[in-house]
Amino acid sequence: MAAEYNVLERARRTGENHEFLLTPGPLTTSKPVKAAMQRDWGSWDQPFIKLTGDICTRLTDMAGGGDDFVCVPLQGSGTFAVEAMLGTMVPRGGHCAVLVNGAYGERIVKILEVMGRCCTILRSPETEAYDVSALDAALSEDTTITHVAAVHCETTTGVLNPLNSIAVVTARHGRALLVDAMSSFAALPIDVRALPCDGLVSSANKCIQAVPGMGFAILRKSALASTAGNAHSLSLDLHDQWLYLEQSGRWRFTPPTHSAAALAVAIDEHADEGGVAGRGGRYASNHSVLVRGMREMGFETLLADAIQSPIITAFLEPADPRFSFQVFYDLLAARGFVIYPGKLTAAPTFRVGTIGAIDAQDIRGLLEAVRSVLSEMGVQDASSARETTAAE
Ligand SMILES: *Cc1c(COP(=O)(O)O)cnc(C)c1O
Repeated sequence: MAAEYNVLERARRTGENHEFLLTPGPLTTSKPVKAAMQRDWGSWDQPFIKLTGDICTRLTDMAGGGDDFVCVPLQGSGTFAVEAMLGTMVPRGGHCAVLVNGAYGERIVKILEVMGRCCTILRSPETEAYDVSALDAALSEDTTITHVAAVHCETTTGVLNPLNSIAVVTARHGRALLVDAMSSFAALPIDVRALPCDGLVSSANKCIQAVPGMGFAILRKSALASTAGNAHSLSLDLHDQWLYLEQSGRWRFTPPTHSAAALAVAIDEHADEGGVAGRGGRYASNHSVLVRGMREMGFETLLADAIQSPIITAFLEPADPRFSFQVFYDLLAARGFVIYPGKLTAAPTFRVGTIGAIDAQDIRGLLEAVRSVLSEMGVQDASSARETTAAE
């Protein structure tokens, strides 16, 4: 029998990571990304101005933006960037249709409500992808809708929404699409010009594999140019941030210098790995090793394979009364694997992220740890005995 895989033991021997964050972010980062934060940068200093410019150019390229789009970075977590994009791009008299099939779609609705923008909610069940025909109908019926907001990978369940069809329908009706690509950008192909969309947001601490502290929006210049005065907030005004960057190369207000430096290294590593295709390929392999191994133990995925992203996977909790998520979580964490609780109300689930600086070998380590934890808990069969959940 193979020795129990224990990340903490290995870390003591090799100086490698002490734990793996199998979460939707912040996630496991590489040593060079962490090492990039050892230097202090002056925000007015030329090297940092150059670093900011390079990051923005390379992120715009990653999105296929060319000269038509610009990357505007923003301090804070991903939600700050979502809120800034909506507040800047949707005018005060605008009307945004929001596609919702999980917590991040709900968050977009909440943001629009807080800032007092008119919104129409188009809900689909959490275990299904968006209903594109409902969007088509809503856009035909209500000509006051100016924008459509959608989440690409809904991290709540890991469902991958049909971004291309949404973009086609939105464009056919002559409306503007804004995308929360937080957990998909850099791992799944997105071309903002081909889609098309007017804006997309993501953050440093997801598939780009840098550290928390900043997000960014990739925005269509021609649309952004007419957004002066739209924003409900001074610090979340991307038009203002854009102008200031264009004029001075500097961020308005204190930039997250160390995060930006880490991001620059993370973008190098992304390119070295083969860009979006290379990164996405590794995540897909992590995901398939995970799902195969978990199914061998009896675990069931919440979603049907056809709509499942390779980013994060929700598993149904085993029906065995000896299973307790908290104990399972703690025993895995003690072995160096940090998983993530579920977010659903419909069925008790837990989630395992397959993004970050981890590979299939690490996932095999996790599977070994899961096996050992189940046996410690006395759980022999990990099946949920609720076979029809995905269809509910
Ligand atoms: C992570 C994430 C966000 C942003 O969350 P923060 O906690 O603010 O970083 C937004 N949308 C999606 C789909 C996400 O996965």
